[in-house]
This record gives sequence, C-alpha cells and structure tokens, in this order.
Amino acid sequence: MTSIKLNDISHRRFNPFTNSWVLLASLNKNNRPRQGRKEASAFGGRQAHDPQCYLYPGNQRANGVRNPNYADTFLFENDYSTMRMDEGRCDTKACEKHLLRDTAADLMRAEAVIGRCYVLTYSVNHHHGVSNMTCQQVLGVVEAWTETSTSMKCHEMDSRLESSLDIASRRYMQIFDNNGEIVGCSNAHPYSQIWITSSIPDEPQLEHSQMNKYHDEHHGRHMLQDYVELEIEREERIILLLPKRQIRGLVDLNTTERLEFARAILQIARIYDNLFGTTWPYISAIHQAPLDATEAELKTSYLHAHFSSPLLSPSIKKFFGGYELYGEPTREITPEFTAACLRHSAAQLTVPLQDSTATDVRI
Ligand SMILES: [Zn+2]
Ligand SMILES: [Zn+2]
Repeated sequence: MTSIKLNDISHRRFNPFTNSWVLLASLNKNNRPRQGRKEASAFGGRQAHDPQCYLYPGNQRANGVRNPNYADTFLFENDYSTMRMDEGRCDTKACEKHLLRDTAADLMRAEAVIGRCYVLTYSVNHHHGVSNMTCQQVLGVVEAWTETSTSMKCHEMDSRLESSLDIASRRYMQIFDNNGEIVGCSNAHPYSQIWITSSIPDEPQLEHSQMNKYHDEHHGRHMLQDYVELEIEREERIILLLPKRQIRGLVDLNTTERLEFARAILQIARIYDNLFGTTWPYISAIHQAPLDATEAELKTSYLHAHFSSPLLSPSIKKFFGGYELYGEPTREITPEFTAACLRHSAAQLTVPLQDSTATDVRI
C-alpha cells in the first residue's frame, strides 16, 4: 500500500485559536492555469512625498483641524470614526423591544456599541513603510501604542487625545494596520488605527474563550505558551508574533522587551518585502488583555500580533469566494511551505537593522 503524506492531499487543519478549520487545497489546485486577475502595478511601492497628504505635519484634515508640526508619531481621533460617543447612550433594551417581536427575541438580537476610533501616524515621511523605518522609529510606535493602552486604563485621559471617552465605555482596544491599497488603505502614509469599543470584538473574544478552555483542560497550562514551545522545538513554521512567556498586554512589556517587539515587527516587514520583491501589502493586528480585564481574562490573556497578506504571490491576490464565505476558509499553501519561504527570504536579507546588532526573529 502506498503511503500518502498529508501535504500531498487536500486536508483540513484545525485552528485551536478560533475552534475552526481551514481547508488546505491539494497541489492540483496550485498547478492549475490562472486566467483570473493578476495584480501588476498595485504593489509598486509607496508614493514619495505628497504635500497634500492630510496626515502630514501642519496640513489641514477633513474636519478643518490642522495637524501639529509633529516629528515622529502623532495620535488623533479619526475624522470619520466608525463609533461615536456624542449620539447619546443607546438604550439597548429599548432598541431590542423596538426591533423585536416577543418570539423573535433570541433570533434578532442587537446591542449598541459605543467607542472612539483613533489614528496613529508612524512617521512624518509619507513613503516610509515599516520596513523602511529604523528600529528606534518602530520602537516609538510601540511606545505610542503602549502609552495609549496605559491612558485608556486610567480615569484621566491622555492629553494627546482630542475627545473624552467615558471609562465605562473602554472595554477593548484593538490596534490594527491596513497596509497597502490592495487591502483598502485610503492613504499611503504609514499609520495604524486604534479602536476603543464598549464591547470585546468577536475575534479576541473567541480566542480568549479557546485559551480559557485549554487552560481548564490542560491543568492550567497556557495554549499559546505550549504553542510557542512546540513551534520552537519543531523549527518548522511560525503563525504569530508572540512572546516566549505569557505577557498579558503592551503595558506589561519592559523596556528591553518593547525594543525586541519593535525589532521583530521591523524584521517581519523586511522579510515579507524581500520575499515579494516589493512593498508588501498586509493587514496586522495586536491582541491583548481587555482594558478592564476580569481576573479570568487576565489569567489567559497573552499579547500577540497577527500578520496576514492578501497575496498568494506578488501578482496574484487571494480572493474570498463562495466556499470561504459559506463553507470554511481555504488556503493554497501549507504553513510549513510559507515558513520555509520566509526563512529563505530572511537568510537573503542583506540590510542590517540600522540600530541593532542582532535580530531574534525565529521562523
Ligand atoms: Zn503622508
Ligand atoms: Zn489573536
């Protein structure tokens, strides 16, 4: 009987983080001729200085406010915030009563979400993606995220923030970065978004439930700690950027660890740019403990960062179709193959980090 290796056939991989499965397509699919859309110019790098850019120091934004003459990072409230505070508190119960008939109460649920959306620019340089920044500049971004986390946990808001936000409405702080036109970024200037919401978003909530379940089923062991040990032992792949020991959030990183975190983000950006031979479009997000974490949430929270690429190759975008939307997510390449490509790219990197002597990104 011929033995078949897992990677030679289509198969599913379990994602314990979200209690869901991902379908890995068979090699056949990768070899099929592609006649669909090819991206040629969408990743042609960043535009050089744009004097009209509304994120540039001194320029006026859509709401008429003029940016200060900042030198590094600059934090401000998004002029087109998805959530607002000034519309008055929504009475969820009243909304539900209005929306629902008695028998539909379990089926047609809705709840109000209030919060604020902020923007954090990384640099005054319009064309500076993370991969072009120095380690000290990325560290400045990590420190700005950390300071924002700290101020969101306090009753007194940070003076850098333009509007007040009731502490009771600060349940979760989601940091994310849509980098590149292809992932819907509306401005090429390097920046991340910080959304503060009165509820925990679904994805970190689901991850937390799974980590909690693992903790209970594995005699108090932490799922991500076990994961990082396993991945390091196998040296086969990497799925996340995460500390080797449990750290609940950005505010718990010490000075050295913040620098290491910045260095790892910079290194990943450079490895991806080198792999694709161009400025890498990506989506990244940081998950950490909720702002007003309960004891149970603190017990299992584990700081980590996700990085996703919308590309299958420099010229082919990954689309989400019917199976992904209504079946389950699919991938054309295995995590082992992806990690091998990234390792190869890392080995080719010739530009050293400008202000550090060593890199410690293990792939
Ligand atoms: Zn700009
Ligand atoms: Zn996560």
